[in-house]
Amino acid sequence: MSGTNERSALSIAQRQFDATADAIGLDDSARAVLREVKRELVVHFPVEMDDGSFEVFTGFRVQHNIARGPAKGGLRYHPAMTLDDARALAMYMTWKTAVADLPFGGAKGGVVCDPHSLSLNELERLTRRFTTEISLIVGRDRDIPAPDLGTGPQVMAWIMDTLSMHAGFSVPASVTGKPQSIGGSEGRFTGPGRGLTMVTVLAMRDAGMDPSGATVAIQGYGKVGAVSAELLAAEGMRVVAVSDSTCGLYRAEGLDLSALRHLKEEGGHFADYGGAEQIARDDVLTADVDLLVPAALEAQVTQRNAERVRAKVVAEGANAPLTTEADAELSARGVLILPDILANAGGVVVSYFEWVQDIQSYFWGSGEVNARLREVMTRSYQAVRSESLEHNVSLRDAAFRIAVTKVAEATRVRGIYP
Ligand code: NAD
Repeated sequence: MSGTNERSALSIAQRQFDATADAIGLDDSARAVLREVKRELVVHFPVEMDDGSFEVFTGFRVQHNIARGPAKGGLRYHPAMTLDDARALAMYMTWKTAVADLPFGGAKGGVVCDPHSLSLNELERLTRRFTTEISLIVGRDRDIPAPDLGTGPQVMAWIMDTLSMHAGFSVPASVTGKPQSIGGSEGRFTGPGRGLTMVTVLAMRDAGMDPSGATVAIQGYGKVGAVSAELLAAEGMRVVAVSDSTCGLYRAEGLDLSALRHLKEEGGHFADYGGAEQIARDDVLTADVDLLVPAALEAQVTQRNAERVRAKVVAEGANAPLTTEADAELSARGVLILPDILANAGGVVVSYFEWVQDIQSYFWGSGEVNARLREVMTRSYQAVRSESLEHNVSLRDAAFRIAVTKVAEATRVRGIYP
């Protein structure tokens, strides 16, 4: 792929893939296929702004691999979104769905925009126009979008409605993370945080650590971070440091999570919160805690700050929050790292449940969704841990070994390469 710079998210994803391919002795044909994305669409489209002017936005949809099923992955609205990010994140989605053994491939996409600077009407017009542009390649059996950074149930509802307008009938399974009133699933919103909590508790116990009373720092307080905070606290942990894009908050006795929830529900920022000590945003990453959950953006723990990270366990809520160098530095110090393709897979697992329920038009209660999520997360974690013990590798390397092996096998048996 041209235009890929050495330190881009894609080159990091490809280096991780190369290392895995070397470790499992993957043949050259499979390497050539899996190292590149299968399909990518770049669109530039006009949106009418509220003042009557037009702005042209750029969006992407990238599918990495569909050997195991339709492509699946989030849509991100962020000003720094790039095509390379979409390629890298699509690749991670292929591995993530394989680790959890879901019948999906990997995709990712998004629009270069700041959703917070757009009115609701502008956001709707942007979403509908973007959906029409990418409708060439998305849909129930082809590629099913979901929420990611800067998008949520309302955006998914507009996407589902636009795709349904094109089809002439409702196609709820064309997108996941929708409101429940139009075919969304119980437990989808809490899925990533719930899955992260489940595997974190399992891994801490296996490492001989008592989760109850452990202290926690969480970077990013959105769909993944806020739910993780509340569910980790429900396991007896003490959340002492959190951040959003405006600043960090610290309280040694534990933060008042219901007050933070109300603040966020009302659209507030941590910089406006008076109920805790305000600290620099990035100091949350180096807080003196047992567990760190980076749940904001990629590449937050780097060579620059890795040696100051004091957590004993890092559970990756965000995708690729640690650079390769930071991962090596923390691993060398014995920090237990729960890799993104396992730790935050709860989102895509419940998205899979939503897709299945939509296709069957038969909906499950929250107890059933959460029990099935626990089953998938526990099975995936146990498989990764066994692989890690058997080959004496990190949980990340073990998860990649499992994923690449499964995808290569599906690609080979379909006859996609000789
Ligand atoms: P979100 O938009 O709901 O929340 C993001 C949060 O991060 C916000 O609180 C924002 O203020 C904060 N933030 C942004 N920049 C920051 C910075 N520099 N420092 C501290 N906080 C910052 O997004 P989300 O859906 O929670 O996604 C977060 C991460 O989790 C992304 O990497 C995403 O790809 C990943 N993820 C999301 C899902 C999902 O289903 N939503 C599933 C798996 C992984």
